[in-house]
Parts: sequence; C-alpha cells; structure tokens
Amino acid sequence: MVETGTDLELDLAFCRRWMLELAASVESSCDHLTELDSAIGDADHGINLRRGLRSVAVWLDSPGVPSDPAMTLEVVGGRFISEVGGASGPLYGMAFRTMGELMEGVPLDLTVLTQAISAGLVSIQRLGAAEIGDKTIVDAWAPAVAALHSSVDARSSVIEALGLAERAAAEGRDATVPLRARKGRASYLGWRSEGHQDPGATSTHLIFQSLLEAAS
Ligand code: ADP
Ligand code: MG
Repeated sequence: MVETGTDLELDLAFCRRWMLELAASVESSCDHLTELDSAIGDADHGINLRRGLRSVAVWLDSPGVPSDPAMTLEVVGGRFISEVGGASGPLYGMAFRTMGELMEGVPLDLTVLTQAISAGLVSIQRLGAAEIGDKTIVDAWAPAVAALHSSVDARSSVIEALGLAERAAAEGRDATVPLRARKGRASYLGWRSEGHQDPGATSTHLIFQSLLEAAS
C-alpha cells in the first residue's frame, strides 16, 4: 500500500533529514566514491564531499539555523561551494542554492520540489555544460528529474515519486559505465574512461537515495 502524498510533510524537518541522510551515506560511501575517482579522476571525490557534508551536519546542529527549508538549502549550497571544491563542489553548490531560491516563500509540495530539483539540473548544466551521455552527474540527475515530472503528471504520492526518482538515478549511474567521458577530468582519459562508473553520477544517486530515505 502506497502512502498518500498528504501523509508526508515536506517541511524544514524533511529537508534537515535529507541533508543528514546524505551526510551519513557519503560518510559510509566515501571510500567507494574515492576508489571510483581514482580510476578516472584524482581520487578525491569522496573526500571532497565528506568534508562538505561534515560541515553541513555541524552547521545543522548549531544555533541560528534558518527555520525554513528554502534558506536551509541555500546555505547548504554555499557550504558545497566553499567546502567541497573540485568540479563537483560548485556544481552541487549551485544546484542546492538554486533549489533553495526556487522554494522561497512557497509551501513545499511534490510539484514545487520537482520544479526545484529540475531548476537544480538547469544550473548544473548552465555551469558545467554537460549533456546526458557525457558521463557526469547529469546522467543520474536528469533521469531522476524526468521521473519526478512523470510522477507529478500521474498524481503519484510523494513516496512513490521519490522511489521512482531514486531508481532512475541508479539506472543513470549504472549507464555511465560504458560511456566515454566528455566533460571534467575523466575526459582527459579519452577511451580509457570507458568501463568505469562515474563518481559524480554515483554521488548524485546518493542525493536521491537520501531524499527517499528522508521521506520513508
Ligand atoms: P574533480 O574532477 O575536480 O576532482 P570531483 O572529483 O569532486 O572533482 O568530481 C568529479 C565528478 O564531477 C565527475 O565524476 C563528474 O561526474 C562531475 N563533473 C565533472 N565535470 C562536470 C561537468 N562539466 N558537468 C557535470 N558534472 C561534472
Ligand atoms: Mg576528483
């Protein structure tokens, strides 16, 4: 039996759970992400993200944390930009900042969340100019956005929509394995990047997995 959308409040507590779930999953996947990045990059993706998300987790526990989800995601975006570094820090940072900006002053429901995540993708592509198939975070983020839009059209429940988004991100991540990288550090390897799972698409899946966990 699928939970109905109204059973779940997409509020500040939900956004906090999302970020804390993400921090915990990056903590436990740090070595895996770094291993993937050592094959086709410079072996820092897990370490970069862990540094940023540790700082997010400390901040979420500190006094003076904003009381609305929009501002929370905007500050998280800033932390990604200032703490994560590499290619992924600014890309994820801009995405979270844009998501927060889009949610400002609007009650958060599945439609708004979908619009925000979709706007996050637009800002990733504006900054990084990657298309689907370039073996980047776009390969996992874009199918998740498509799944969310279909779910809104089908009037699915929040939990069902987030489950489909998580699956789509996982499939997008897996589909990066045979691809040749056309953006970022891995693109310097040419054909030698083929046969490896993209680290960024892998961490993007963790973002959508954490979103689902936060709702479950
Ligand atoms: P760096 O490559 O600078 O060390 P990270 O290791 O933190 O940065 O992140 C690497 C990931 O960033 C890649 O696996 C890829 O998914 C993603 N990435 C790199 N360039 C782009 C881009 N232009 N657009 C989208 N994602 C990108
Ligand atoms: Mg790297």
